[in-house]
Amino acid sequence: MFANVKTAVFAATATLVALPLAAEEVNVYSYRQPELIKPLTDAFTAETGIDVNVAYLNKGMIERLSAEGNRSPADIVLTVDVSRLAEVVNAGFTKPVTSDALEANVPAIYRDPENHWFGLTTRARIIYADKSRVAEGEVTTYEDLADPKWEGRICTRSGLHAYNVALASAMIEHHGVEETQTWLEGIKSNLARKPQGNDRAQVRAIWAGECDIAVGNTYYMGKMLEDEEQKAWADNVNIVFPTFEDGGTHVNISGIAMVKSAPNEANALKLMEFLTSPQAQEIYAEANYEYPIAPGSKAIDLVESWGEYTADGVNLMTVAGHRDEALKLIETVDFDG
Ligand code: FE
Repeated sequence: MFANVKTAVFAATATLVALPLAAEEVNVYSYRQPELIKPLTDAFTAETGIDVNVAYLNKGMIERLSAEGNRSPADIVLTVDVSRLAEVVNAGFTKPVTSDALEANVPAIYRDPENHWFGLTTRARIIYADKSRVAEGEVTTYEDLADPKWEGRICTRSGLHAYNVALASAMIEHHGVEETQTWLEGIKSNLARKPQGNDRAQVRAIWAGECDIAVGNTYYMGKMLEDEEQKAWADNVNIVFPTFEDGGTHVNISGIAMVKSAPNEANALKLMEFLTSPQAQEIYAEANYEYPIAPGSKAIDLVESWGEYTADGVNLMTVAGHRDEALKLIETVDFDG
């Protein structure tokens, strides 16, 4: 995509066609899909005249930034999961951004204490519970998932998936490494089957009678409801917002950071401020059934209908800091085995 832009500019220059003022642009490396980003970048271009070039990546952002070094065309990275943001920050590819708008739009727990990254939306990691086999109030905390009363009743995706690693990382922040190991062992012994499939596959397993509860992200409820086959799985479960015994509900974010070598720094800042605005957050959140985080912003009615919850108050960069310990524990207890 960048190659095309460059080619066009080069061709125009080479034939001495008078260009309008040098095209204003900003370049984004995104791990999120075009259908989530495009409506927003189009709106930004319409408002500012700045073109947004987005390179959609499935993986390898770190490797790419590393290979490009200071010549990278990237101004902004956009991704989901704080561990990915932390990874880019910790690799030294970002720089801190000071902006009143960003600070006003993004609550402190959803941005880097050093201002290297800023959240845009959240999703909660909740429990899907069979409507008939799980009584109201039967599960209220993450700690409770290790209780023997759930023996043979829990389904989950791999413990090594980023969503579960982040949950275990948060557990370490609340209870320390040892208790988290005991917790993981407890959940493992409660599993109805070996970890497999994605979050939606667990809700399907509940529907099929293989288990009674599963951990999953909130937005999958919306995605299942819009799918002809999966709607039955969704209709069969309640959403429960568990909390940590001494905290709130575990959430993760999508977010953005400015690349250290950003060639279009001023435009990058404008785009970051635009994306964090309450209106942009609401559009972006709606596209994937997520929660906007700007003060005064609201999720769509369907998402709101799943219930209210209080997000855990630990800064997500602190959670991300426990990632390696969490991964080690998940391997130590052979969670997927
Ligand atoms: Fe997901």
